[in-house]
Amino acid sequence: MIPIHTDPRMIEHRTPSGHPEKPERLSAILDHWRKTGRLTETNAVAVKEVDRSDLARVHTEAYLKNLEEKSADATDEHLQMLDPDTSMGRSSLRAAKLAAGAAVAAVRQVTAPDAKHRIAFCAVRPPGHHARPHAAMGFCLYGTIAAAAAHARDVLQLDRILIVDFDVHHGNGTQEIFYEDDSVGFLSIHRFPFYPGSGRADETGSGPGLGFTWNVPLGADTSPKNYHAAFEASLEKAAAKTKPQLVLISAGFDAHREDPVGGLGLESDDFRRITRAIRQVADTHAEGRIVSMLEGGYHIERLVESATIHLDALQ
Ligand SMILES: [Zn+2]
Repeated sequence: MIPIHTDPRMIEHRTPSGHPEKPERLSAILDHWRKTGRLTETNAVAVKEVDRSDLARVHTEAYLKNLEEKSADATDEHLQMLDPDTSMGRSSLRAAKLAAGAAVAAVRQVTAPDAKHRIAFCAVRPPGHHARPHAAMGFCLYGTIAAAAAHARDVLQLDRILIVDFDVHHGNGTQEIFYEDDSVGFLSIHRFPFYPGSGRADETGSGPGLGFTWNVPLGADTSPKNYHAAFEASLEKAAAKTKPQLVLISAGFDAHREDPVGGLGLESDDFRRITRAIRQVADTHAEGRIVSMLEGGYHIERLVESATIHLDALQ
């Protein structure tokens, strides 16, 4: 069974009433996985808050301080707004630190020389791929996947890491953090034009990182068939160029046809094909090493269904 890094304290992160990034997203997934034997005492991995040094690799010191100060004033009755979509309550910063801690621990787990598991999943919230070096954005406080990739690069000394982001939104924060980096490749497939506005095909990296960013922008009416064709072609290029030792996945399920926030015509079962394509890359280059982490997905039933299909396709 795939180890699942998660912690119920991430459910305590409160967002404004009616906000799509609600606690039920995570509790519904965990409830379903417990009920169906996918999450048991055997494969549940306890999560610790991330080390500050892991956040400092991807965020400015001023931003980290700012979040800590605002968190001290935040209560669940008076949420601190960080941007029009992103807020902090009493337990939010702890949840974000647990999410990033899960990602780093999962990367350490699958890359250990005596690793028993090559694949791990992080069932976390808040999401992270929009968080910028100096600012919160789009429901995200910390660059969760970015902190994990930077840890793999700087602490574990991996120099070929590939991040694949299939959330319906462009992973602008992850892209920005590694835009000039040739050791962390970034591939994002997303609806375009759409929030957050970036992710054009001609955004391909700069400096030493030129050619290590791949964007696949797709119109809202793209068919699943065309989605898979575009994704697989781009993934093949990214894999050939990076030959990754480790594959990280920003697994957002808001490209589902029924998602109230995103929506790109995918059915739950399409996430099986996406996952298998990524697994094949990991099997070819990375000795099968994958860490996948939850990003978006806002239709609770379809989120649970899609995330379960993704998890099963990773097994
Ligand atoms: Zn999203």
